[in-house]
Amino acid sequence: RAKELGKARYEIFNQQMYLDAMSRLELENELRQAIFHQELVLYYQPIYSLSNLKLIGFEALVRWQHPERGIVSPDNFIPLAEETGLIVALGQWVMDQACQQLKIWQDKLPPATSLTMSINVAGEQLHDRNFLQIVDRIIDRTQVDSQYLKFEITESMLIEDTEQLIEVMHQIKNRQIQLSLDDFGTGYSSLSYLPQFPIDVLKIDRSFVNAMNVERQNLEIIKTIITLAQVLNMKIIAEGIETDVQATTLNSLNVEFGQGFLFSQPLTAEQAETIVIELTHKS
Ligand code: C2E
Ligand code: MG
Ligand code: MG
Ligand code: MG
Repeated sequence: RAKELGKARYEIFNQQMYLDAMSRLELENELRQAIFHQELVLYYQPIYSLSNLKLIGFEALVRWQHPERGIVSPDNFIPLAEETGLIVALGQWVMDQACQQLKIWQDKLPPATSLTMSINVAGEQLHDRNFLQIVDRIIDRTQVDSQYLKFEITESMLIEDTEQLIEVMHQIKNRQIQLSLDDFGTGYSSLSYLPQFPIDVLKIDRSFVNAMNVERQNLEIIKTIITLAQVLNMKIIAEGIETDVQATTLNSLNVEFGQGFLFSQPLTAEQAETIVIELTHKS
């Protein structure tokens, strides 16, 4: 009897595994299709200078407009894209689209000329042999001025293949593209390794910004990150600013830039363009 029960449970377990595998496989196939059927769309979150609230650029954030499921957030498909290698094609699409959009705004609206476009780049992309060639082809095709591009990489990427990574980073810098370290403080990189990477901007993860006003210690942690960035000659962007107090405090601590729901959610291209047009009227 116990044996039977055990067997039944075993079968249920297998069935569940089968279902899990099926839906993953299905999802993977759907995602592969999505890349080629134009179901992906970019949203743009404005980034501001905290001292004068001037718009300095946008971060491109991908969404999946699923025919049945509606808008799917990147947290629900980027990890799968990374595991399956689909991220290379997806990332290429994102880069091409973001560069094309920036170029359109810069050409059409003069105050947009100095706006930057931040693009999230996954580790798998940086490790792809063709990465730099892809970047060059996109810059060539879109005719975007590469000095206005910022590639965002995460701290967790810094621990693998360090030498090869540093080489690719220098190649990126040779193209005048800036490098940002995303979600800083959440990874496992050793601080003593940080100076060897040619990073221009450090992005304080929103968990720190969020916790800032809760406990005194959290404020001290942010201050430590700011000091670290200053010592390393990096600029700072604070992510996930949701309140006036957070914005004011970060500004008083000399954090240059910020993004977050206080200022704006990620916007469609159309909505983002409205903000750029407002800029035209202000100047
Ligand atoms: P991330 O690069 O750290 O992007 C910032 C995330 O924080 C975005 O989530 C944004 O919508 C959210 N956010 C911004 N301000 C606030 C705020 O004030 N409060 C809160 N609660 N959230 C805020 P999103 O768009 O869902 O993207 C999640 C992550 O997915 C990104 O985190 C990035 O790691 C990844 N991702 C998005 N697009 C791409 C892409 O094109 N390529 C790659 N490789 N990863 C991407
Ligand atoms: Mg990012
Ligand atoms: Mg981030
Ligand atoms: Mg993140």
